[in-house]
Amino acid sequence: NKQVILKDYVSGFPKESDMYLNASGTIKLKVPEGSNAILVKNLYLSCDPYMRPRMKQPIPGNETYIEPFKPGSPIVGNGVAKVLDSGHPDFKKGDLIWGMTGWEEYSLITATQTLYKIHHTDVPLSYYTGLLGMPGMTAYAGFYEICSPKKGERVFISAASGAVGQLVGQFAKLLGCYVIGSAGSKEKASLLIMRVDLLKNKFGFNEAFNYKEEPDLHAALKRYFPEGIDIYFENVGGKMLDAVLLNMRAHGRIAVCGMISQYNLEHPEGVHNLMTVVWKRVRIEGFMVSEYHHLFPKFLEFVLPYIKEGKITYVEDVAEGLESAPAALIGLFTGRNVGKQVVVVARE
Ligand code: NDP
Repeated sequence: NKQVILKDYVSGFPKESDMYLNASGTIKLKVPEGSNAILVKNLYLSCDPYMRPRMKQPIPGNETYIEPFKPGSPIVGNGVAKVLDSGHPDFKKGDLIWGMTGWEEYSLITATQTLYKIHHTDVPLSYYTGLLGMPGMTAYAGFYEICSPKKGERVFISAASGAVGQLVGQFAKLLGCYVIGSAGSKEKASLLIMRVDLLKNKFGFNEAFNYKEEPDLHAALKRYFPEGIDIYFENVGGKMLDAVLLNMRAHGRIAVCGMISQYNLEHPEGVHNLMTVVWKRVRIEGFMVSEYHHLFPKFLEFVLPYIKEGKITYVEDVAEGLESAPAALIGLFTGRNVGKQVVVVARE
């Protein structure tokens, strides 16, 4: 049972060498007698930004919202898997599921309450790590439940080509909003061009810009939103948030989904322009997708027809093999991924 193991807690920017491949892990391909666990073969694994805070050493009395990973154990994350054996009445051999699993070939899952059975298999199975999984639900809950969107409003999305952002933009377009996204990449100029291009030509954003080529984000936003922003879907935090605050319209809304620019900093940056929230009467609201499990059936009902009609599209960045998983995860923080970052362990 090949596994990707976290070596030790991580501080600062994560490196591939913070994880290693254990090629000699073992697992019994049978659920122990009397257990209600399920044994699965992992097919697709999801790389998600929240996995970085899970690598941090817990500080007693200052616990974060999420349980840290255990050094010496396989990384844990969302994935798509096939049930090989089951001690649980709700799952049977051959079922396809998505939910929390291990970064390994086979996993014995005891926390079955975090799993969803996959009923629609006429879409790519990997979509259950993204479009039809946790990031999709995040985009849906964040946009419709938190942003209070209305037709014609001006929407700005950061990290807009990513797993969540590309969907928020498409939802906003479907509603008739004016949508602009930002994307960037430090290392590959070709990716920069491609990514901004992707936002406009593939996802139908009205405009897109590469924030890394903008020396003054405030001025850039003013150029793109001369009348201001009604809705900001926040994925990155830091300087972008400060620039957005100066460009919000009265009664605007900011849905704080995440702040990836802060995840590798030992001391998060301060926000300087918060005072604008008072006189512009802006609502800023954070949310966690974990509070919206109940909306999942409604979300599927909403999104599946759009996928089938080709009105919602999804871009994935697919890494092949468990051994490529550490680099794929770290790539989220350098902006290497174009679209949802998935790792294929096995295709069936
Ligand atoms: P993405 O697929 O968008 O990947 C991360 C992207 O973030 C990178 O590709 C990069 O894009 C951008 N990025 C990385 N580092 C920085 C930086 N220092 N400054 C600015 N941008 C950076 O990830 P997801 O779509 O999965 O996640 C997007 C956000 O949503 C994250 O903040 C995540 O934590 C949050 N989230 C929150 C959830 C919730 O329940 N609240 C649930 C799921 C996700 P680029 O090169 O374009 O800058």
